[in-house]
Amino acid sequence: MSDVEVVVIGSGIGGLVTASMLARYGFSVLLCESHTIPGGSAHGFSRQGFHFDAGPSFFCGLTDPSSLNPLRQVLSVLDEAIETIPYDPLGHYHFPDGTLEVCSDIDRYRQAIAEITPDGAREFSRLERRLATIYEALRGIPPLALRLDWEAIPFLVRHYPFRLFKLLPAMGLMQRTVGELMDECVRNPWVKRTIDLECFLLSGLKAYGTIAPEVAFMFGERARSTVDYPLGGSAAIVDALVRGLKKWGGELRLKTHVEKILVESGEVRGVRLRGGETISAPVVISNATVWDTYLKLLDAADLPPTYRQENLSLPAIDSFMHLNLGIRSDGLDGLTGHHVVVLDELADITVPGNTCMISIPTVWDKTLAPEGYHALHAYTLEPYRDWKLDADYERRKQERSRSLYRAVEKIIPDLRDRIEFEMIGTPVTHARFLRRYQGTYGPAIPPIRGIYPTIHTPVKGLYRVGDSTLPGIGVPAVAASGIMCANTLVSPSKMSEMLQEVGLL
Ligand SMILES: Cc1cc2nc3c(=O)[nH]c(=O)nc-3n(C[C@H](O)[C@H](O)[C@H](O)COP(=O)(O)OP(=O)(O)OC[C@H]3O[C@@H](n4cnc5c(N)ncnc54)[C@H](O)[C@@H]3O)c2cc1C
Repeated sequence: MSDVEVVVIGSGIGGLVTASMLARYGFSVLLCESHTIPGGSAHGFSRQGFHFDAGPSFFCGLTDPSSLNPLRQVLSVLDEAIETIPYDPLGHYHFPDGTLEVCSDIDRYRQAIAEITPDGAREFSRLERRLATIYEALRGIPPLALRLDWEAIPFLVRHYPFRLFKLLPAMGLMQRTVGELMDECVRNPWVKRTIDLECFLLSGLKAYGTIAPEVAFMFGERARSTVDYPLGGSAAIVDALVRGLKKWGGELRLKTHVEKILVESGEVRGVRLRGGETISAPVVISNATVWDTYLKLLDAADLPPTYRQENLSLPAIDSFMHLNLGIRSDGLDGLTGHHVVVLDELADITVPGNTCMISIPTVWDKTLAPEGYHALHAYTLEPYRDWKLDADYERRKQERSRSLYRAVEKIIPDLRDRIEFEMIGTPVTHARFLRRYQGTYGPAIPPIRGIYPTIHTPVKGLYRVGDSTLPGIGVPAVAASGIMCANTLVSPSKMSEMLQEVGLL
């Protein structure tokens, strides 16, 4: 007899989606979260009346039933909804030689490029048409219909034969990188740099490191669905998933750090918590990163040595410097919510400190700060190595946050006079509060190196979900990994029932 049927380790969006879907399918599920707040990278936190998103602030399709966003489809399955505020333009990309207004509406996006480079805009529209072909092909198959075992293809052939047929002509394009597609139709350096930036913001890698369907999904959702911000911030998404989990009988335990996944004779037996309590279960699903799972949660002897070595040697994207500010909002009436600032023309956009992301969600949701103030989050890549909690830590923290200040000052020149609250986070902070190996953003797997590891592991009953599994980094992607894992654990007939209930079959 087991204590529960499934233990999920970690309440990131990947873990929450898996746990809540499995609860919905009727499993007894226990979700163990180490932190006091659920949500992992997507958790929200408050300081002195200012509410901040720890990570994601760019979402799409959250309230659009026709959206391809896997998270949106999971909310339907759970019968949960969130309130959002749609907005356009999405933001502004500030290069040293000019600013581009980025709109969801693809015609307005192209027009903004045309104001800088008319030839470049024509080239961009050729690339955009290719990406649209991929998106239209993808639209036929709901992410909720995906599973990752031998039943996957027969299931799709049985239920979506015509849509699958429509997918075939786009298969060639889908296996290409954005860089390869870009080479065929874009020469203009301005446009190339913009596409590289779009890819970098999404996958952490530039166009050659990013597969075309990822960017096709992003452009497609922007143009054909809605870009919206959840009222209450990213925490509102987490809350909806937690409500869904509980409503369908699942349990969430916070401050519950899993110390070991228990394995006997190649089969999972359960988990041991910090403090010694053990929970037995025939299925354990880890939402911790691949490195955290294989280095800390399993013993080396639990995995075949070559498999373990291959997975542990996956390259990791750097961590982050964060700047969280509460600022006076008077006189900032035209402020928009998202900005990306590239500081140095001569340095690559991937160089730590050079590309800074800025999110000011109080532009859309004023309840996230006291009246008369904005909550602002800026972040940039920063390597974890060399960061130590030593005597020099505070000085380095100030020094390394300077690029973030420079970036925000491009948008709000008198920033320093407006500050009411300031908090600087380093890779040490990121690793500690998000429980992530070296505070990494996720794996850096360029397509030439192969595809992401899947949900499957060599240990019977052990699965993995989240941003170090297929399809990769980002809220929609980790939700997709959670869906695929939950679906793989049920029969195709249960999946069909679920799809019928939400009108996707
Ligand atoms: C600064 C930043 C900005 C971002 N912006 C966007 C954006 O705008 N749009 C977008 O789509 N994506 C964005 N992303 C990416 C996106 O947030 C992540 O890819 C995604 O949220 C990761 O989810 P996950 O489920 O893989 O894991 P995580 O969010 O890492 O969650 C894993 C969870 O497991 C828990 N855990 C780990 N080990 C244990 C253990 N031993 N016991 C118990 N619990 C454990 C952790 O505490 C954590 O809660 C951003 C990320 C960052 C960092």
